[in-house]
Amino acid sequence: MSFSEIRVRIAPSPTGYFHVGTARTAIFNWLYARHTGGKFLLRIEDTDVERSRKEYVDVILDGLKWLGLDWDGEVVYQSSRLQSYRPFALELIERGCAYRCFCTAEELTQKRQTAQQAKVNYHYDRSCRNLSAEQITAGLEANKSYVVRLKLPLEGKATFDDVVLGTLEKDYHELDDFIIVKSDGNAIYNFAVVVDDHDMRISHVIRGNDHMTNTFLQVEIYKALGWDLPTFAHLPMILDLNRNKVSKRKGAKGITDYQHEGYLPEAVFNFLTLLGWSPKDDREKMLRRELVDVFTLEGINPANAVFNPEKLLWLNGEYIREKTNHEIAVLVAPMLVEKGLTTKYYLETRWQWLMKVVGLLKERCKLLTDFVEMSSYFFTDNFEYDAKGAAKHFSPEAVKLLTALAEKFAAVSELTEIKAEEIVRTYAEELQVKPAVLIHPTRLAVTGLTAGPSLFGLLEAVGRDKVCARIKRAIVYIESAK
Ligand code: GLU
Repeated sequence: MSFSEIRVRIAPSPTGYFHVGTARTAIFNWLYARHTGGKFLLRIEDTDVERSRKEYVDVILDGLKWLGLDWDGEVVYQSSRLQSYRPFALELIERGCAYRCFCTAEELTQKRQTAQQAKVNYHYDRSCRNLSAEQITAGLEANKSYVVRLKLPLEGKATFDDVVLGTLEKDYHELDDFIIVKSDGNAIYNFAVVVDDHDMRISHVIRGNDHMTNTFLQVEIYKALGWDLPTFAHLPMILDLNRNKVSKRKGAKGITDYQHEGYLPEAVFNFLTLLGWSPKDDREKMLRRELVDVFTLEGINPANAVFNPEKLLWLNGEYIREKTNHEIAVLVAPMLVEKGLTTKYYLETRWQWLMKVVGLLKERCKLLTDFVEMSSYFFTDNFEYDAKGAAKHFSPEAVKLLTALAEKFAAVSELTEIKAEEIVRTYAEELQVKPAVLIHPTRLAVTGLTAGPSLFGLLEAVGRDKVCARIKRAIVYIESAK
């Protein structure tokens, strides 16, 4: 192989959202480049003018940046390379490796229908493969439209080696003399990919195994052009829990969705890395730099990978707990503002408060959005009570307990965590009840929720006066609900 350095690429088509499969391919390429000290290049395959859109390009670039996948050099836009392909097709014609096919669309349709009626697989009958020089000149002079087809061997097997799947082969009888240039003069997809990869000096093509059929054709193009083959690595499919291919149609989310739903890029990155690759030990949570250290193509598993959303959620929680309160506050603050829970984070006191709230909730949150869902009572006194919780814990008996507790709380100069715990436990002993009997209605009164962080720390954070006021508010609520 004459590649002097390792150069990999991803070549997404900007025709929709940034699919998790594309992100996984990007991550594997990126890891391989960073592991080997090679280059990770980005080519946007935007030649399908009907379906490609500028905003989808932005979605891809934003998604790559969010995942921390920095690419080397300029982005290559395939649409700017449309003139690059034809000269190679002409060279192939001259060398007798490709030929002009003047068959009309009607003729081909006819042949296809005949094959269908005879219930045999349609193959182009190669009727233009051996046209005489005169026939070709006549066609060209008559301005007949033509496509260019690659001349494939008639016998034997097309074959290539794949790092993940081993040696693959296909009988040449199964392949047609396929078109490389359309009648409008534009290159067909597979031809463009080979020329692009060659021009970009791509040494390793790492992509989803849905491209396998393309690879057989692309290998024939490399061979015809006399170019060295890159190393191929085809990645396993990603299946959902029902063992269906993960697809948009079946409700699969894009990278942007995960971003908005409160996932951390570190977690998504780590999770996607494990879809089809493993460090060959039990590790699951692995930091980016650890992954760069150990990632090899040999670690790719050919078996289909299963996308387990629970595992992603678990990993996300793990990564949340690794962040400092400040780091989380930076990410959560805009969400709280958007939810209308607060503003003014430039105020130091406000920021300190937010960090405190984050610290209290961190153990319980699996998503950044959980901080918003679970924290409204830290920002407003005007919350509703969880209906089921109220039915269970807001009894006439609770009014008595809450009234007494509010009095005890009000009597201390500062309601610290320790003090709050002491008051609740002593009172429970006095009443000869379990502390939970007091804890449940108190939590509901002070937060509106039935679960959350440790009650005593929470009471300290909310503060004596607010705690007492909220207990009184709950008592009014219980009495009015009678
Ligand atoms: N444009 C192709 C895609 O979006 C990728 C082609 C390739 O990696 O060779 O799936």
